[in-house]
Amino acid sequence: METGDYLRILTDEIHSTVVATIDGEGHPVTRCIDMMLYDDRGVYFLTAKGKEFFDQLMAQKYISLSAVQGKKCISLSGWVENIGYEKLDEIFAKNTYMQAIYPGDTRSALNVFRIYKAHGNFFDISDPAHIERGTFSLGNETIHPSGYFITDKCNGCDACLSVCPQQCIDLSCIPAVIDPNRCLHCGRCVEVCPQNAIERLGGMRR
Ligand code: SF4
Ligand code: SF4
Repeated sequence: METGDYLRILTDEIHSTVVATIDGEGHPVTRCIDMMLYDDRGVYFLTAKGKEFFDQLMAQKYISLSAVQGKKCISLSGWVENIGYEKLDEIFAKNTYMQAIYPGDTRSALNVFRIYKAHGNFFDISDPAHIERGTFSLGNETIHPSGYFITDKCNGCDACLSVCPQQCIDLSCIPAVIDPNRCLHCGRCVEVCPQNAIERLGGMRR
């Protein structure tokens, strides 16, 4: 799937997300925030200027969010900017329930924020035996690789596939190949490989 596909799932299918910032004591704090719109410049949400959340957004300019619906999950971390009243009427036209929460001109209490540079992860376990994962980015943000890959030390012995819960290792070639869109990052293959041929992308365990 392309970035637009993930953003459509985030804003139109799931819509309600949990957004994390840092409070005044340095602790993570979360609240539920609807993702209202997306376009090729980012993802848009609202908050009222009187909220602590607003102050945190203005000071920190960075959020992490997660959203779950059924067996689909999206996480997104990235930079936000206050764009004032830009897109406000468009957001109210698309998300009509907002017109009852903030009737008439009371919507002026709100400001629109855009997530303009971010990296995201998608996870779908609707078919548990064939999970699907993906990564995407906004604003040319760098996607940090994660998971595992198999090096030239592989001799095709089959030990890794025998313990892989998703059976997502292709042994039709040597070195074998892990399917990154189905791998759980569980690490079982690493533990059994007699050649130490399997390495973690990015070095750190995630
Ligand atoms: S266990 Fe190691 S050597 Fe054997 S097929 Fe898997 S990656 Fe290759
Ligand atoms: S990390 Fe787990 S799911 Fe991924 S290839 Fe290895 S055993 Fe399979």
